[in-house]
Parts: sequence; structure tokens; C-alpha cells
Amino acid sequence: MARCYNRAIVMSRAAESEIPAETLARYEAVIGLEVHVQLKTASKMFCSCSTRFGDPPNTNVCPVCLGLPGSLPAINRRAVELAVRASLGLNAAVAERSRFARKNYFYPDLPKGYQISMYELPLALKGWLEIDFEGRRKRIGITRLHLEEDAAKALHEGFPDSDRAAYIDYNRCGTPLAEIVSEPDLRSPAEAQAYLEELKLTLEYLDVSDCNMEEGSLRCDANVSVRPRGEARFGTKTEVKNLNSFRFLARALEYEIERQIATIEQGGAVLQETRLWNVAAGRTEPMRTKEHAHDYRYFPEPDLLPVRIDQAWKEEILRDMPELPAAKRARLEAQYGVSGYDARVLAASRDVADYFEAVAAAGAAPKSASNWIQGELLRRLKETGATKPAERVSATELAALIARVERGEITAASGKQVLARMFETGEPASKIIAAEGLGQIRDTAEIERVVREIVAREPANVAKYRAGNEGVLKFFVGQVMRATRGQANPQLVNETVKRLLAE
Ligand code: ADP
Ligand code: MG
Ligand code: ZN
Repeated sequence: MARCYNRAIVMSRAAESEIPAETLARYEAVIGLEVHVQLKTASKMFCSCSTRFGDPPNTNVCPVCLGLPGSLPAINRRAVELAVRASLGLNAAVAERSRFARKNYFYPDLPKGYQISMYELPLALKGWLEIDFEGRRKRIGITRLHLEEDAAKALHEGFPDSDRAAYIDYNRCGTPLAEIVSEPDLRSPAEAQAYLEELKLTLEYLDVSDCNMEEGSLRCDANVSVRPRGEARFGTKTEVKNLNSFRFLARALEYEIERQIATIEQGGAVLQETRLWNVAAGRTEPMRTKEHAHDYRYFPEPDLLPVRIDQAWKEEILRDMPELPAAKRARLEAQYGVSGYDARVLAASRDVADYFEAVAAAGAAPKSASNWIQGELLRRLKETGATKPAERVSATELAALIARVERGEITAASGKQVLARMFETGEPASKIIAAEGLGQIRDTAEIERVVREIVAREPANVAKYRAGNEGVLKFFVGQVMRATRGQANPQLVNETVKRLLAE
């Protein structure tokens, strides 16, 4: 153990030294991702404890998820259904018969001493996900998707004795997960990131997980190796853990690729091991030498029957399949004539895409709807952390606002202001425009034109005014207001009437 640590330190130093670009260019990276996603169920994988996030530690536990002797697991049907849905959405073949297995290892966050996972008969095999990377479409193979239970959460910080002790919250223990393993088809950190983004979006569209990376409902481990360009065989890989954001995934892979290249360039060999991304230090560090499947002494879970998924159930799930991101983007382009870029932005959230279609259906020109949503609305959503635009501004109200701007009733700048207010208050555009006087005519030339018209058709009242009857002023102001349907600015009307009558 000590030896491999020393070696790792040497290797990390090497990675920090600059590697010439020509050297880097002689190598190609090979990457495969293992993604764990928490399934959207109310209860755990094998017991009825709640899966709610953020509850007080160790309140959602029972003999089953605490691994007490004599307790028996029971499969959560909803978790199986969601995993089948994910598999079908990822074009994988769902096995008619799959089986849970025990993966044996000791760790304090695993009270049973084994994790119930799937091994030789996983839920689904051989899927794919298409990504659009640097203008090219590429299919990334999905090796398998299987069900398993999560471990507990070890808390290493925040306690007075954290320097000596760790605490464990068993609430998360037994939470249903789907593990999605990709083929080693990815060739750069950016491509790996594009795959993870498309996978996350697809799972969100499928509504199988909330995919919240900060809360740990989507976690990613990256397997990476390098080889000289043109070489057919793969190099020795390392597995990097703790990549809970897209940025960390890309940065950790960049670091790890350079470290491996430096090692090889110096005549060394990459050691097959599991490494941890150290966020603060910005580098990967050795965690343990790679364990092999046989170390886990997998065997079929004797307390559970095999999982059977018949054709009828699959078909039922398929009937309920939503339109997935790639199809949505293609349709938005074809049906509404928006650009590929716009389609991508709009379809980056199912809620936003639905909203766009509702605004267009309410009469807005698709291009205008797209611009208004992408500009003001998405910015506001991002700022407030809200996700459903329709809950802030109804689609018909946004369409009505766009119509007012396009008819010239208010300026585009005012329109943005109104939308911001609508977003904050939920009030209709008309009310905000009236309250803020944004619909008013402040154009002096326009007001003057109207006043002149009225002055010209009221010679008798003009004469009265000039004879000293100041009360007639009110009459003229009233006439102008009526002619402009109340939209002229009263102050300006007053001034203009006085000025023109004095001429
Ligand atoms: P292990 O038995 O070590 O878990 P697997 O063959 O199950 O390895 O693969 C795990 C992940 O590693 C998969 O995502 C796979 O695509 C990826 N992978 C396999 N070999 C390599 C390699 N040489 N370089 C990079 N990634 C790899
Ligand atoms: Mg593995
Ligand atoms: Zn439980």
C-alpha cells in the first residue's frame, strides 16, 4: 500500500509539470462512465422507509435497511418499473428475467455487510444514447442498467470530534438506485460531459429521477485510460470517484489524462486503481488499488425471487413513454422553424419546451416566443431557482404581452420590464402596464397632433378660453384623453393644450 502511495505522489507531481502540446496530441483518451441515479420512489428499495431527502439523521430506518438479523427484503415494484422505463428510454433490451445478487464487502455505511445489487443477470443490456457533440452525432453504447440499493452517508465534518470520529446517517441506506454503465466509447473530457448532460436530460424527461447532483441523486464515476493514437488496444484504466458536477467531471478527467500521459512518457506504467477527485486540491488522489469482481464474492440473493418482466408490462411502460430530448429538438425545429440552437436551449428542460409550445399555441409567433423565453424568462428562472415557467407567468399572458409589444402599444424595453414584474407578482400584463403607466403615450409629437385636431374642430371653445374662461382647459384635456383612450400622459396633455391655446 505504502509503495503505491509513493508512486502516486511522484505521478501527481509529473502531472503538474507542463506536458508539451505535441506530446499530449500523440495520445488518445478512452473514457467510460458509471452513473448512479436515485429512482423517484417514495419508499426504499427493499423496505417501506421513506426516501425523503433532508430528514433528521437516522429517522427513516427499520430492521430491513439497518440489516438486523432475521429481517427480510421485499422488492419495490415502482423502482423496478422506473428502471425499466429508464432502460427502454435508453434503447436497452430489458431482460425477461433478472436477478438480485449480494455484493459482499465491509464498510460502516453498509450495515448488512453486503449490498444487494445485480450481477450476472442485470435488468437491461445493450442500449445506446445519441449525443450531439461538436456538430457531429455519435451513439454512445450503454453496456448495462441494473438496480441496486444505496449505502448510508458517512459524515466526516461538522462535529466537535470530527478529527477523531465519523458519524453515519442511515436514512439513505437502501434507497433505490439504477446504475447505468457506458461502453468505453467516449474520447475526451468534453465528450464525456456531453454524454452525462444528455443522459441527465433524458432521465429527467423520463421522470425516473430528479437528477439533483448537489443532493447526490445523480452521481458519476469515470473510468479513463490513454493509448497512443492509432493503437487498437486499450490502456490500463483508473476509476475516478466523487464527480458530482459536470465541471468536476471534465476537470478530473483532464487532470487524470495528463497524469497518465506523464507517467507513460517517463517510462512508468499506469496502475489500475480507484482514485478520488480532490476538489480543493484540483487533483485525483489514490484511494485503493482496484478491486476485482471476484473479490466481492457475488452470489444470487437467496431472500429474493428473480425479477420477471413480461411483454405486457413492458408494453404498458412503452405506451407511457414521453418524447425524448433528441426527438423534441428535431420536432421543435421542424414544426416551429426555430434554429437548432434555439431548439437545444428550449428543450434543455421539458417544462420550458412545453411552455414554449403553449405560448406559440396562444398565438405568439414561434420566433418571438422563443426570444422572449430565452431572454428574460430563462434569466429570471435561473436567478430564482424556479423550474416551471408556467407557474410564474401563464403562457396566454406571455403571448398577450408579446402581442402588445408587436402592435407597438408598448416598447420592447417596457415589455421586458413588464415581464419581470409579471414574473415577480403573477399579475396580468394589462394590470402592470396600467399601474406603471407603461402604456401611456409620452410622444409629444403624437400628443400635439391630437391636440391640434381638437383645437381645429372647437373654434367656439377656443374663443371662450381666449376670452378668459380657464375652465374650458379641462374640456380640452378631457377630449384629448378620450381620443387617446386614456393612454396619453395627462401632464403632457395639460402642457400641450395650454401651449397650443396660447398660440
Ligand atoms: P470493472 O470490472 O473494473 O468495473 P468494467 O469492464 O465493468 O470494469 O467497466 C467499467 C467501466 O469502465 C465501463 O464504463 C467501461 O466502459 C469502462 N472501461 C472499461 N475498460 C476501459 C478502459 N480501458 N479505459 C477506459 N474505460 C474503460
Ligand atoms: Mg465497476
Ligand atoms: Zn427501512
